[in-house]
Amino acid sequence: MKVIERVKPLQSELMQHKEQNKSIGFVATMDALHQGHLALIRAARARNDIVVVSIFVNPIQFNNPEDLKKYPRNLTKDLRILEENECDLVFTPSETEIYPEPVREQYDFGHLEQVMEGKYRPGHFNGVAIVVRRLLEIVKPDRTYFGEKDFQQLVIIRKLVEQIGLNVEVISVPIVREEDGLAKSSRNKRLNPEERQVAPVIYRILKEAAQKLNSFKTPVEMKKWGLNKLESHKLIEPEYFEIVDMNSLQEITQWEQTSDCILCVAANLGKVRLIDNIKLFS
Ligand code: AMP
Repeated sequence: MKVIERVKPLQSELMQHKEQNKSIGFVATMDALHQGHLALIRAARARNDIVVVSIFVNPIQFNNPEDLKKYPRNLTKDLRILEENECDLVFTPSETEIYPEPVREQYDFGHLEQVMEGKYRPGHFNGVAIVVRRLLEIVKPDRTYFGEKDFQQLVIIRKLVEQIGLNVEVISVPIVREEDGLAKSSRNKRLNPEERQVAPVIYRILKEAAQKLNSFKTPVEMKKWGLNKLESHKLIEPEYFEIVDMNSLQEITQWEQTSDCILCVAANLGKVRLIDNIKLFS
C-alpha cells in the first residue's frame, strides 16, 4: 500500500495502472475509519483492480466550526485499517494541495439541496460538491463508492457527475449498523453513555414506521407519528422526519405517488447530530 500526499505523484502512479488497462475504484473518506467505510472499500475491492482511498477532512463542508474542530482524526489507525483491507493507494492531501487557490465555485442543485440536510446545513453540499469534484478529477476512477447513510449526498453526487459530465460510475453501498441498529458514524464516539444508550431508538422508529406503513393513511400521518415518537425521548431533539422520492427528493404527500420512497431523519442527541434513513416499500 502506498501513501501519497501530493497530486502529481498520485497521478503518475495512477497513470502506470491506467496504461495497463487496470480499473480504478475510488472511496472518499474523512478520517476516523469504521466498518461503514470498510463496506465501501470492500465493494471497491470486489470490482476493481486498484483501490484508491482518500483521507481528507474537508473544512469547507462544515457549516458548524465546532463540528470541524471536534472531528475525530487518527491517521495511524486509519492507515493500519486500510493496509489490512488491501487498499492499494491512500491519498492524504493537505488543505493547500486540494485548495491551492481560494474556493469560488457555486453549484446549483435546485430542490435537491434545499431540503433536509441542505436546509439545516447551509453551504454543506456546495462544499461537498467542490471537494468530490476535485478528488474525482484528480483520481479519474472508473467507479466511485458512496454510502447510503448520507442518502441526500449520494443523490447530489450523482447529479454533480451528470452536470459536469464526468465519466465515472457512482455506486451506492447500504448502511452499516451497530448490533443495536445505530448507523455507524464517526460521530457516535461523541455520544455520552446515556445518549449512546438512547441513540438506537432512531433506527427502531424508522423500522417501525416502515413495518406499519399500511396503518398510516398518508405520509403526513407517518411524519406526525414519527416526530412525536422521537420527541417522547427526552434526550432526542428531532430536526426533520421526511418522506421523499428517492430520485427527486420531493416530499411524498400520497402513498400512490411512488414506490421509490425513502424516510430520512436527523436528530440531535445533546451536541451530536445524527442522521439515518430507511427505504419504504422495500
Ligand atoms: P465520511 O468519512 O463520514 O465522509 O464518509 C465517507 C463515506 O462513507 C461516505 O460515502 C459515507 O456515506 C460512507 N459512510 C459513512 N458511514 C457509513 C455507514 N454507516 N454505512 C455505509 N456507508 C457509510
